[in-house]
Amino acid sequence: MRRGVEWIVQPVSAAQAQKAYTCPGCGRQIDIGVAHLVAWRADGVLGDAADLAARRHWHQHCWKVA
Ligand SMILES: [Zn+2]
Repeated sequence: MRRGVEWIVQPVSAAQAQKAYTCPGCGRQIDIGVAHLVAWRADGVLGDAADLAARRHWHQHCWKVA
């Protein structure tokens, strides 16, 4: 639970990390080839397609401390 919202969190392995992303926790880049996490809302208020589009990539340590 995070801010009253249920999140689905999936690990992204280094081999799967084929794109660079901006981490919403620290605002810095997650480089290609760096294992990290992807999270999205589980409650589906916006619909599944919108939830998938709104997935966020986080550094592992940023997700833990946020
Ligand atoms: Zn981060």
